[in-house]
Amino acid sequence: MFDKTKSIIVGAAAAALMAPAAFAEDFITIGTGGVTGVYYPTGGAVCRLVNKGRKEHGVRCSVESTGGSIYNINTIREGELEFGVAQSDWQFHAYNGSSKFQDAGKFGDLRAVFSIHPEPFTVVARADAGISHFDDLKGKRVNIGNPGSGQRGTMDVVLAAKEMSLSDFALATELKAAEQSAALCDNQIDAMVYTVGHPSGSIQEATTACDSVLVDVTGAGIDKLVDQNTFYRKARIVGGTYRGNPDDTHTFGVGATLVTSANVSDDAVYVLVSAVFENFGDFKKLHPAFANLDPQEMIKDGLSAPLHDGAARYYREKGWIE
Ligand code: GLU
Repeated sequence: MFDKTKSIIVGAAAAALMAPAAFAEDFITIGTGGVTGVYYPTGGAVCRLVNKGRKEHGVRCSVESTGGSIYNINTIREGELEFGVAQSDWQFHAYNGSSKFQDAGKFGDLRAVFSIHPEPFTVVARADAGISHFDDLKGKRVNIGNPGSGQRGTMDVVLAAKEMSLSDFALATELKAAEQSAALCDNQIDAMVYTVGHPSGSIQEATTACDSVLVDVTGAGIDKLVDQNTFYRKARIVGGTYRGNPDDTHTFGVGATLVTSANVSDDAVYVLVSAVFENFGDFKKLHPAFANLDPQEMIKDGLSAPLHDGAARYYREKGWIE
């Protein structure tokens, strides 16, 4: 009996020595957003590159469709997700315990990995609804987004900046991102909001399944938001990106970022960032919203939480940071 136990221990030790690498997280999951957004294919692109090297590093990556930014950050905080995609405004507020994170308090262990594509705050209206600017939403049926999504949070900020409230709408619905284009084209709502990279499947659906228009989100309240917050900037959705929308749309926006927790191992984060940056040409080809990505900007823009040590290790080896 004694000998048998011993031989099992020896066997296990030998197997551990032979394994390519032993990490605390053999499985990592990336929280994303609705399946017709850009976060979901972004998570897919990252995991695809991580999983390509699985035999060498032993990490298996999977993607989860979720309610969006704020859900992802909260779920990382609970230790139920290792990574998540999140808007730069919500990364800032989570790390600082401000805005929607005031009650939960500062998430001091939140860590930045890199930033990804720009996400303009996008408002799409039915062409027959008489809406050509955000201010025209008054009296209309508007999908303000599901709680937990980045757009819902940012919509609340925009309404405050515009000195508007939900009572200004004839109806405010809380449909999830993946449901809103169908609701728009079924004439259940007049307009929808989505903080999203372009082109996105959702906006493509909204502009091809029926006639709809992207409208400007501008004015003094928006200028003030951009002036007062480093994570907001003016944004332009290039004309011709979507059917029936030949002209540029002017709005403001944030950046999509990949975040994690200080409790996730340095090795797992190192494996993920190396997979992306060692295969950067392939990564950029995995979604048209990645066309203008530049590694030097990705490791600093829109990041309010400190870099995770595992990411910093890789960026230092590359000579990208001190
Ligand atoms: N920005 C959205 C959010 O934070 C998600 C956009 C997407 O899925 O591409 O909820």
